[in-house]
Amino acid sequence: MEKLNVKAYAKINLSLDILGKRKDGYHEIYTIMQSIDLCDILEFERNEEIKLICDDEKVPKGEDNLIIKAVKILKERYEKEGVLIRLNKKIPLAAGLAGGSADAAATIVALNKLWDLSLSEEEQKEIALKLGADVSFCLEGGTKIARGVGEILEDLKTPQLDLLIIKPDIEVSTKEIYQEWDKLNIKSQNCTAAAIQAVNKGNLYEIAKSIGNDLEIVTSSKFKVVQKIKSELLKKGALGCAMTGSGPTVYGIFDDPKKLEKAYVDLKENYGFVAFAKTIGKGLEFYD
Ligand code: ATP
Repeated sequence: MEKLNVKAYAKINLSLDILGKRKDGYHEIYTIMQSIDLCDILEFERNEEIKLICDDEKVPKGEDNLIIKAVKILKERYEKEGVLIRLNKKIPLAAGLAGGSADAAATIVALNKLWDLSLSEEEQKEIALKLGADVSFCLEGGTKIARGVGEILEDLKTPQLDLLIIKPDIEVSTKEIYQEWDKLNIKSQNCTAAAIQAVNKGNLYEIAKSIGNDLEIVTSSKFKVVQKIKSELLKKGALGCAMTGSGPTVYGIFDDPKKLEKAYVDLKENYGFVAFAKTIGKGLEFYD
């Protein structure tokens, strides 16, 4: 095999409870992670050197990129050659959509195939966890309850949701938002338990009512635009809306295609990134 094409899907958090800070500095979370059909497109080609090509100026091309980090771990561990990666970046950066993590997961799975590594699921998960808390989820994707730092995963049935995704023109540092959370010493809203029940029932209206995110209060106190987007979404007919990850991206759940379309047109004028999305049952997709 000389070349591989992969779609790496973004995720949203249908719920996010922060249970506390661990001794190792990471935070213990309880969350529902959900893949959506917004994706980056990656092409992997056998090559002597390691090289990443991406038109997006904001994407780091060197050691700071999670794709390069994943390549280097695998190359050193299994003494392989290089690889040329072409990245078509469609998932907004620093958005709470786990774009970098999805790319890293795609790299592990693609190189396992391209380099004939025969890695077990356990070995792939172990490498994923070295790269970041969300990478484990991105390896499988779909709909999952996640615990620990996000690496302990349990399957849920994927609900069919029509979403509008809005990212204002600001970038948020996940690290800073968690630091602020620690300082403020806020109690969790504990919305994950109810959200799991709603997802198990597959009831759109219950899901829309139960979604929530503990980090929203922190991010929206720094960036007022998060609450503004939420209230606009609700005014335009969203059944419910929430911030994803550490933000600043907000999503709304709709049951009426006309209201969804109108919300898209109206909000597109005011915000940097506005996109329709649907929930999907996978995190990666290989295609010819
Ligand atoms: P998460 O939801 O997992 O916290 P995020 O969506 O908030 O992720 P990313 O888009 O993954 O954040 O990127 C955060 C930062 O990581 C970027 O600003 C960028 O500097 C760096 N980065 C490293 N690798 C990548 C990549 N492959 N794509 C995008 N950003 C990357």
